[in-house]
Amino acid sequence: MTIRAKILKTLILGAPASGKGTISSRIVKKYNVEHVSSGDKLRDHIEKQTELGKEVKKYLNEGKLVPDDVIIKFMITELKKVESKPWLLDGFPRTVAQANALWKVQPVDLVLNLVVPFEVIIDRVKNRWVHLPSGRVYNIGFNTPKVMGKDDVTGEDLIQRPDDKPEAVQKRLQIYESVTRPVITFYKEKGILKEFEGRTSDEIWPKVTAYLDPILK
Ligand code: AMP
Repeated sequence: MTIRAKILKTLILGAPASGKGTISSRIVKKYNVEHVSSGDKLRDHIEKQTELGKEVKKYLNEGKLVPDDVIIKFMITELKKVESKPWLLDGFPRTVAQANALWKVQPVDLVLNLVVPFEVIIDRVKNRWVHLPSGRVYNIGFNTPKVMGKDDVTGEDLIQRPDDKPEAVQKRLQIYESVTRPVITFYKEKGILKEFEGRTSDEIWPKVTAYLDPILK
């Protein structure tokens, strides 16, 4: 049996704004897997002002992690909905408690870790604009929208995420170092972690395809 036939469960890790979103959408498109992004799903709940959205809004705005019990329950339910499909999980797990909870219900097959220098990340976030309904991300000077402040496809407004403010980014990077770093170790010890280094997504992408092509194509 090939790994593909087994319905591959892949996970992508990387610091905030390491290009996880960009690499994930390229993977989803090229290999036709379901994208499950905890951040996108939470932002969607906030946008729609659901009970969960109201509960988690303050954490997202301040760049803090949503409590483990809340996010674990939410994401396990979301993953149940796509259990028959190959998926790429993005943004979850972020703590060892989350990684353990996920491992119990659904051990992942592959973990991709994007390694981007922190100074590159901070610079990138200052110039980042997103189209909330689609999750499309623009970077001024690098991947600039055709009309400033507008989405290329729909013409709708782009926003700067509140958690992309410099104070929030610093906070998110600190959290990443202290809380998420052990998640990398967790998967390294399982022997399923593969690291990809680079300063931009275009530098990282060919390394990712070279690794995934033989497995997923
Ligand atoms: P992201 O788009 O993945 O950077 O997520 C944006 C924000 O959503 C984070 O800064 C957290 O506030 C929240 N969030 C997303 N995923 C998780 C998670 N696995 N655990 C806790 N909080 C999360």
